[in-house]
Amino acid sequence: MKIRTGFVSNSSTSSFIISLSAYGNVAEVAVAMIPAREWDERDDELIEKIENMKPDMKEEPIAFASCNYDTYISKEEDGYYIDTCNNHEWDDVLEGIDEYGGGGDYGNEDRVHAARTGNQYYWPERERSATPVSYDELERIQLPSWCTDQHCYGGIGIDPSGNHICIRCGKIYKGVNKHEDTHGIHFEL
Ligand SMILES: [Zn+2]
Repeated sequence: MKIRTGFVSNSSTSSFIISLSAYGNVAEVAVAMIPAREWDERDDELIEKIENMKPDMKEEPIAFASCNYDTYISKEEDGYYIDTCNNHEWDDVLEGIDEYGGGGDYGNEDRVHAARTGNQYYWPERERSATPVSYDELERIQLPSWCTDQHCYGGIGIDPSGNHICIRCGKIYKGVNKHEDTHGIHFEL
């Protein structure tokens, strides 16, 4: 049964859950979605990179650039979670969509979008791994919601070394932890 949860069709973001039986792994879901970008050789290159990934990496969360926002795919207990932009009729592209949500425009009210912040994603095109950071957390540590470099506007994530980085260009951002330690000294993350 398909469930639509507070989903507004003019939202710029969308999210959905695909049943685990519809695809063999995260990589297969990605490969099904990538041609919808219609970026020709860039789509072919990304698909090749994903198909050449080690089998265990194909089970791990994958992300890639899409029309407005990056697309995030992860395998969770009750399905593949996909957080993406709202530029395509995903029903025509993907099998087994069980539940629709509104995606990032709804912040953590959208459970698929909220699940992103618990995962480390790999971007095969950028050869970069990062864990997305919620807008609430970015506000708390006084970082912008998006990369402030002109023409970038990449999302902010935490890289495997613990740095806050722009997921798109790799620029490092220094947040401020507003909680004081026992000596009352502010420290940087
Ligand atoms: Zn950037």
